[in-house]
Amino acid sequence: MSVTREQVLDTLSRVMSPRGIALPEANVLSAISASDGKVFFSINVDAAEARAWENVRAQAEAAVRAIPGVTTAMVALTAERKPGSATPPPVPQPHRHGGGVQPAASHRPPQGGENPMSKQAEIPGIAAVIAVASGKGGVGKSTTAINLALGLRDQGLRVGLLDADIYGPSVPRLTGIHDKPQLNAERKMIPISRFGLSIMSIGFLVEEDTAMIWRGPMVMSAITQMLRDVAWGSLDVLVVDMPPGTGDAQLTLAQNVPLKGAVIISTPQDLSLIDARRGLAMFRKVNVPVLGIVENMSYFQCPHCGTRSDIFGHGGARHEAEKLGVPFLGEIPLHMSIRSTSDAGTPVVDSEPDGPHAAIYRAIGAKVREQLQGVIAAA
Ligand code: ADP
Repeated sequence: MSVTREQVLDTLSRVMSPRGIALPEANVLSAISASDGKVFFSINVDAAEARAWENVRAQAEAAVRAIPGVTTAMVALTAERKPGSATPPPVPQPHRHGGGVQPAASHRPPQGGENPMSKQAEIPGIAAVIAVASGKGGVGKSTTAINLALGLRDQGLRVGLLDADIYGPSVPRLTGIHDKPQLNAERKMIPISRFGLSIMSIGFLVEEDTAMIWRGPMVMSAITQMLRDVAWGSLDVLVVDMPPGTGDAQLTLAQNVPLKGAVIISTPQDLSLIDARRGLAMFRKVNVPVLGIVENMSYFQCPHCGTRSDIFGHGGARHEAEKLGVPFLGEIPLHMSIRSTSDAGTPVVDSEPDGPHAAIYRAIGAKVREQLQGVIAAA
């Protein structure tokens, strides 16, 4: 039985807004996405009112989840400062245990000299959250993120993967997962277990075309919920596949999630290195240690004869890393089997564990692990 927007609106008409009128009448709802039992929408209010709406967000989400046929409901509260408003925008607050209520997120950095990093909160049970980032899309960031996660798994670590690439979640394709996360007794989403990883993706919750139209504050709110309203359990490392680029959303994410490090993926082309440099500068600005640069599609390896061709003038990322004083983590060839295994939902480290590509990703995993050793041991 599929759930319709009308059913959702009907249910929401029984949720009162702080303005004393029913939620659908309050002129704060975004378009409602309801397909396949998955419901997503946001409540958009002025920043000055955000606190008063926190409870309404939670009530709306609970009410929608209770509709028969709804498997996933996600309601984001987004706050925007009206032009000319004197109130500064709120910054995301640390998570409140158990309540599942997320304050509004804003994509603007806080003003007035406040230290943005002071708003960070650890995720209980997770020793290290690390970001996999790239300056632009299409460089193989997600492919590297999942294979790095598997490389870390092969180091004997307990690893989770969060696909926070809200603009184009690719983890459903890379893993072949099409299940929807179930809720536990505390109404937290249970990540999907596959390949020995705990996996969560925004793509499990919303359709790709819905994800495309999200604005900065909604993105932040959704990512915060995926981090904190998910029953991750005990993990040594949570690998976050970040959205590409260095916009406000990425900066705010870095300011609100206590990242223990960032891995930057680049291709050898100069342009991509320029983008990668921007990414590096962004992480440095928010004091996130850069664990290193990976050069993806570093050289072409013929699937038939194994001959290597440096068609992109390989080596740029290694030199750049040296120049910038960050570790160089490794070179991954452009190879048919990396592409075909990625696109078949059987990542190469898992499906060809004895092959040369798995060895490369494992070596990168080992270098990352080495740098996180202190954090993991302390946890
Ligand atoms: P991004 O996350 O940066 O947008 P993806 O990981 O989705 O990039 O990769 C884009 C495309 O390139 C996918 O089809 C993927 O299978 C392919 N790809 C990524 N890395 C490699 C590689 N080393 N060799 C061959 N194909 C690759």
